[in-house]
Amino acid sequence: MAADDLLLTNVRVRGRAELVDLRVEHGRIAEVGPGLDASPGTTTLDGGARPVLPGLVEPHLHLDKAMLGEREPENPIQHADRGTLAGAVATTARLKEGFTHDDVAARAEDVLRRAVTHGTTVVRTPVDVDPTVGLTSIDALLEVKQRWAGTVEIQVVAFPQEGLAARPGTDELLVEALRRGVDVVGGCSYAEDDVEGCRAHLRRVFDLAERFDVPVDVHADFAPAHATDPRHALAGDVAALTRARGWGGRTTIGHVTTLAGYADDARRRLVAELADAGVGLVVLPPTDLYVQGTVAPVAELLDGGVATALSSNNVRNAFTPFGTADVLDVTLLAAHTQPFGTRDGLDRLLDRATRGAAAMLGVDGASGATGVGRRSHDLAPGSRADLVVLDSPRADHHTALLDRAPRRYVISGGRVVAKTATNTTLHVP
Ligand SMILES: [Zn+2]
Repeated sequence: MAADDLLLTNVRVRGRAELVDLRVEHGRIAEVGPGLDASPGTTTLDGGARPVLPGLVEPHLHLDKAMLGEREPENPIQHADRGTLAGAVATTARLKEGFTHDDVAARAEDVLRRAVTHGTTVVRTPVDVDPTVGLTSIDALLEVKQRWAGTVEIQVVAFPQEGLAARPGTDELLVEALRRGVDVVGGCSYAEDDVEGCRAHLRRVFDLAERFDVPVDVHADFAPAHATDPRHALAGDVAALTRARGWGGRTTIGHVTTLAGYADDARRRLVAELADAGVGLVVLPPTDLYVQGTVAPVAELLDGGVATALSSNNVRNAFTPFGTADVLDVTLLAAHTQPFGTRDGLDRLLDRATRGAAAMLGVDGASGATGVGRRSHDLAPGSRADLVVLDSPRADHHTALLDRAPRRYVISGGRVVAKTATNTTLHVP
């Protein structure tokens, strides 16, 4: 028996009426069905008729800038820029002056412990690169990535939050980060002084993606729904670059909140362009709502064939003073803003928080945003055994989501990495 062999019994899998067992061998799901036998000595875990999901995925989580809320210099209530994008960037730029390797790693690991407790086994993290912080955060996150390997798959994105032309010296640091082995090149398409500068920024990001043969992950179109600043209308440019460079399935955009304010025709056109180019889109409801008051139309994106996922983005900083790094909280928040309030709708979002996001990130053999190719990150034989047992006995998955059920067991590669037991005693009729 190997340490990553396991028999998880008596769980509910979406799409199956009966309770089943999952047999895990060498960290992968070997068999799914009722009444399975374990080989002698294999650890057996009783799922207690609880629903189980594949491991949760955070495709966009800023670990380097998390947990800064208490360091903000001004009284947050009196801070005039509170809740604005410019204010959050400025506040965070000041705080970055004090970042050290150990500080970044400690805050990142604080968030990772929370994320794993909630069932997350894959994180893509954009990490700031600029002359203020240099490569301090990148080096810290590359080290954290190694330390957490086998528990959480971490993809590090080098992210020029403050721009390239707008922050001289950043481009060289971005190149050096790629040389040091970051997984993805990031961009911030609205960070330059004018729209032509923003377009040059995007071209440069794709140039680097080609040179280092890595995926692209850009922040784009992050403004209120009816904003008219042309720097926040560049998702179509990202789609065009993706097509031109053959980067379909390897390009992801975060935010695109402005899409919510487009006229019907323009919105449908952009959705079709993104789908056609193979660009994935990650909505970030906590930040999108807090800073811009809107979220991109997830249902319309999915109906239009755009690979779409959800993520926390920020946890307790000037961009989002809230959060527990729980993707299911984010999922439920998204459901408040969109037409997902039915059983099918919630199931659809749960799919995006697990298998859909994993496919977008190319996890475990999936081929990028389209998710075409090998079936992966699913409750099926051959998939890595990343499993989350929701503590709502005898409930369906969507009910467990509504219950905000604790995660009874979190299993990564066949190994139990978190266990939560709650015990409430009621004295009522
Ligand atoms: Zn972000």
